[in-house]
Order: sequence, then structure tokens, then C-alpha cells
Amino acid sequence: MRTDREWMYNSRFVIVEGRKEYNPAFIDRVVSFVEFACQQPTTDRDNDLLRCPCSSCKNRAYKSTDDIKVHVVTKGFVKNYDQWTSHGEPEVGSSSVQPNCNTSSNGDNEGPNPYRNMILEAAGHDFNPNSHENVSQPQPPDPKTKRLYELLRQADEPLWPGCTKVSQLSLVSRMLNIKSESRMTEKIYDDVMQVLEDALPPDSKLVGSFYETKKFASDLGLPCEKIDCCINGCMLYWGEEDKDMLVCKFCEHPRYKQSKTGSKKRKTKTPHRFMHYFPLIPRLQRLYASKVTATHMRWHDEHVQKDGVMSHPSDAEAWKHFDQTYPSFAEETRNVRLGLCTDGFQPFGQSGKQYSC
Ligand SMILES: [Zn+2]
Ligand SMILES: [Zn+2]
Repeated sequence: MRTDREWMYNSRFVIVEGRKEYNPAFIDRVVSFVEFACQQPTTDRDNDLLRCPCSSCKNRAYKSTDDIKVHVVTKGFVKNYDQWTSHGEPEVGSSSVQPNCNTSSNGDNEGPNPYRNMILEAAGHDFNPNSHENVSQPQPPDPKTKRLYELLRQADEPLWPGCTKVSQLSLVSRMLNIKSESRMTEKIYDDVMQVLEDALPPDSKLVGSFYETKKFASDLGLPCEKIDCCINGCMLYWGEEDKDMLVCKFCEHPRYKQSKTGSKKRKTKTPHRFMHYFPLIPRLQRLYASKVTATHMRWHDEHVQKDGVMSHPSDAEAWKHFDQTYPSFAEETRNVRLGLCTDGFQPFGQSGKQYSC
């Protein structure tokens, strides 16, 4: 904290005859702050509006100078804003103007290779890409970590000797992106890769078919669990209690298909029915791991709300009511609310058209 800016956080109130009141000196300084910002050519503006540095707008929303004065006096400055980077002052070295959601202190994260960043983001905040170079560390990395190192290596490795633009990993990610954006079928994907393979030098590191590509990129993906269920839809075999159950609690239908060869096949029992479960927590963590998606996760709190316009559920009454009911939860911008929404869901049977919720 710059000593000349301590007033921003410690002088907002004065005690007058035992009552807490806004400090006139603080108000004067806020007025001077706004004047200063208006005079700087580098101040971030939207026409006549400036970014509001109050603790609730957090330099995201643009407000009129009068609104800014009221906001800052009533709500205080956003934390750690002693360098006024949105109001005409230059960014300095390691200023902590904004909380950095990417907690890795590793400089590599800012590297010029975006695919390297992608792997580091997928690996999570506790992954240190340099730790394997540390000689004093006797333990070899676990298979998953080893695979991530391998991917990091592939992110830097040229597709063919002498190629400077494309690495093995960048080609795979770009192709997967094209495939999903254009809804390309697997057949077309394989055909395109075949053409590429023919066009490239024979010693290229091209990953061929879609099947191989998926395997290649699987470590960047998110976990998915298979959960057995009763074929009649009575129950899921989930958790410790149900782990070893062989028949349904309700209809007593066997969980597994009868194995043909008996003892030999017992290890890989096939359930009559199973479902895919996509665990939520790692997905949320991944959204916060990337700087790009992390800003989307905070948008509900940081976007400019226009009166009379509902552009997001956070502009609506239900959200505001929730925030008022749980103020400590609402205080942290990064807390997310989960909404469930369903359409065309049929609770009674798989194909019965007569019910739709
Ligand atoms: Zn504000
Ligand atoms: Zn059952």
C-alpha cells in the first residue's frame, strides 16, 4: 500500500459526539480523485462515464462522476486500489490492483505459447511444471502428472522438423475446436486428417484419427463417472452402501448381466444399465482456472446494470432477494448460484409423449 493512499481506506469515517459520520476530509479527497481522473487522458472512459472504483462496482461499471462520488463515499474504495490504473495512473510492477484468480506464481503462465497456458490451466493451481526439473525431488511424478509434462513438451514440439507455426498439441486443439464449432462428423474429421497426413512430411507428429485425437487430449478433459443403475429405473448403485449390492433394493432385478464364462469374467461385470455423471466441482474449478472464463464467472456482479433492462438473471428480483438473504455469500463475487432448468422432461417413462414438464 502506498503511504500517500492510506487515506482511501482509513479515513472514511469520523466519530462526532459518539456517532460515526462520513469524514468531510475524505469526501474532499474523493472529489479531488474524480477531478484528477477526469483530467488524465489515459483514464478509462465510456463517453462521459468513468469506471467506478467503489467496493461494489469494483472498477467494472461505468458511472457518472456524481454517481462515483456518492458510491465511493457510501461504499468505500474497492480493496487494493492504491494505484489508480483505471483512472489515469500507469500500472506498476507487481501492483495488486485486481485479485489474480490464477494463483500460480510461475512466470511461465504468461508465456507466449497459449497452448502451454491451456495445459497449465487444465492441470489446476497446485501443478508446478518446473518441479520435475528439481533434482532434489526424489519421487517420480504420478502417471497423470507425467502425462501433463508430456503434453507440455508436445505443446512446444514442432509438428514436423523445421515447422515454426504449429505444434502437435496446437493442431489437435485447433482441429477439435473446428470439429465442435462446425459440428463436423467423425467421418469427415478422419478424412481431413488423412488428407493432412498425406500432405505432411512422413516424419511429422500428426495425431491421425478422431479416436486417437480424443485419447491424446483426454488428460485435458474433465472427469466423468459411470454409475450403475437399476434397469427399471428404481435406484442408482451409488456410494459406499450400494457399492457391493447385486440386486435392486426395490424390484430385486439383478444389477449385472449374467457372465457367460463364470469365474474368469467376474472381474469385469457388465451392469444392465449405467449412467454418466459429470461431477460439477472440477468443472467449476476449471472455469475459474482460465483467465478468460474466470471473468465470465464474475460477470454477474461486475457488468453494468441498466435500469429497467434485464439482461441476466442477476438483474432480476429473485437474485437480489437471494443476495439480501445471504449477504455474506453475496459479498464474494466468485461465489456462484446454481439454477436448475428443465424442458421437455418426462418423469413417467422414457417415450410416453403424454407428459412433458
Ligand atoms: Zn460504484
Ligand atoms: Zn429396480
